Amino acid sequence: MAKPTILTVDDDPMVSQAVVRDLRTRYGADYRIVRAGSGAEGLAVLAELALRGRPVALVASDQRMPEMTGTEMLEQARAHAPDAKFLLLTAYADTDVAIRAINEIGLDYYLLKPWDPPEEKLYPVIDDLLGDWHRAHPDTSDHIRVIGHRWSDRSHEIKTFLARNHVPYVWLDIEKEGEAQRLAELAGAQPDDLPLVITADGVLRSPSTLNVAAALGLRTRAEQPLYDLCIVGGGPAGLAAAVYAASEGLSTVVVERQAPGGQAGQSAAIENYLGFPKGLSGADLTQRAVAQVSRFGAEMVLARDVVGLEARGPVRAVLFADGGDLEARAVVIATGVSYRRLEAPGLEPLTGRGAYYGATASEASQCEGDDVYVVGAANSAGQATLNLARFARRVVMVVRGGSLDESMSAYLVERINETPNIEVRLRSEVVAARGEGHLEHVTLSDRDTGEREEVATSWLFVFIGASPRTDWVGDAVLRDGKGFVITGQDLLLAGQPAAWPMTRPPYTLETSLPGVFAAGDVRLDSMKRVASAVGEGAMAVSFVHQYLATM
Ligand SMILES: Cc1cc2nc3c(=O)[nH]c(=O)nc-3n(C[C@H](O)[C@H](O)[C@H](O)COP(=O)(O)OP(=O)(O)OC[C@H]3O[C@@H](n4cnc5c(N)ncnc54)[C@H](O)[C@@H]3O)c2cc1C
Repeated sequence: MAKPTILTVDDDPMVSQAVVRDLRTRYGADYRIVRAGSGAEGLAVLAELALRGRPVALVASDQRMPEMTGTEMLEQARAHAPDAKFLLLTAYADTDVAIRAINEIGLDYYLLKPWDPPEEKLYPVIDDLLGDWHRAHPDTSDHIRVIGHRWSDRSHEIKTFLARNHVPYVWLDIEKEGEAQRLAELAGAQPDDLPLVITADGVLRSPSTLNVAAALGLRTRAEQPLYDLCIVGGGPAGLAAAVYAASEGLSTVVVERQAPGGQAGQSAAIENYLGFPKGLSGADLTQRAVAQVSRFGAEMVLARDVVGLEARGPVRAVLFADGGDLEARAVVIATGVSYRRLEAPGLEPLTGRGAYYGATASEASQCEGDDVYVVGAANSAGQATLNLARFARRVVMVVRGGSLDESMSAYLVERINETPNIEVRLRSEVVAARGEGHLEHVTLSDRDTGEREEVATSWLFVFIGASPRTDWVGDAVLRDGKGFVITGQDLLLAGQPAAWPMTRPPYTLETSLPGVFAAGDVRLDSMKRVASAVGEGAMAVSFVHQYLATM
């Protein structure tokens, strides 16, 4: 927690110095002692501290000051420092004013001047006030604050980015929280500035995730002109490749468009990963993997979207969406898959505004007390349903098939059946959605009878199979009809005679462009599991070594 501030306001320089001296002596180690020479200056200091999210524990003001009295100043200060304790320093003649201020402006205490000796007259009072403040004040002051509309897709994007990068934040809904409106006003924010992201260093107005990453000191640019290996995608396959490559001495960079962890990062509990008998969350796995990647010295470039791949003689280049590129002697494509879109009239404009593809832990907790609908019947839908059911009033699974058993692991089916606030609607589908600015209703259809029912809900999470994220490679490497990257012996199979340009056979995970490898879910016929993605990431590095040895 940043040191809380004690602000003193007094227009008499001698008295002001004496107060500050006494306060520093006793409280200087634990508090920032700041002094202002007038009411106006005091208010400006408080406004700045509020914007920076710095806690203010105490404001101690003299009463008799020209232009603005102490009580006038404290009355206005409440808007900037709602939780601070207020202390008025008065002469005997002002006792009545001070007593009135207790009722009228919530003054916490008044002290008659002079306060010598401080050990007897000043410190006991301030110790009490600070003790109360500490008990009442939760320690979230160093958290980033995100202020916006609940149903804004931009707010959702930033919250997801922060959550998946493990950056603690406080979400403040501008329509519900007085604190959000107060901060937006202090920042002079216009409607177009939302969402606001307030960090210890300043205010970001409607920032991109790249702006947020840069402001938080997350690396968004590569350091070197040429790497041995560039890995595109920071899911399990990419992170495993980075650990093996960097630990074996290759200069390595991972480029990730959002946050490390990939799909696995969204998993509430991965229970089938070797070595974790109780299971572990995707966030936990990601945090460990990222620590390992940085320990071995691989670079991680975040919030950069790769949109192209080029061969430049023996060098391979990946191109960024916002211009610029990065060169390496070898590349591993580990961009995984993303959820297929649900085709239902009205749904597209509500995506990110109540309708979501996948679900993170932060979304789950926001569903507290609500009715939630989940579309899908595979393990990912099952895990998300169980996680959402911890917070939601009721979770309804909308399943096209006649049973969960064909598509979901038995342990998940069992838990779903045992959870009282989960309802499974078999043989049904979501056929329409509507809402003003955010999701308000979805229409369900019974696939046997054709009967339709419109239900009220603000939450729909879709998990209906996945398609590979490979548009960005264009024609640079060969893909199958669905977009999965073809590797190794599959390149030599019938129908692809011209797919491989070299006399040597391709390495097992090599693509049609020599020196470019694919690992994990993005690869044709991959297993679509965390363990297999990790295994392929590690394996790809052994082929990278063999390839580089021939160059
Ligand atoms: C909710 C959920 C639960 C799951 N639970 C389990 C489980 O319990 N057990 C299990 O074995 N498997 C589980 N899976 C499947 C498992 O997570 C995946 O098989 C695994 O994550 C695949 O890893 P990957 O690295 O190949 O790809 P991904 O995890 O998809 O990672 C790809 C990464 O590449 C990035 N990327 C994509 N395009 C670009 C680009 N153009 N530029 C830069 N970066 C890009 C993405 O942002 C992403 O971070 C689950 C999946 C989900 C969604």
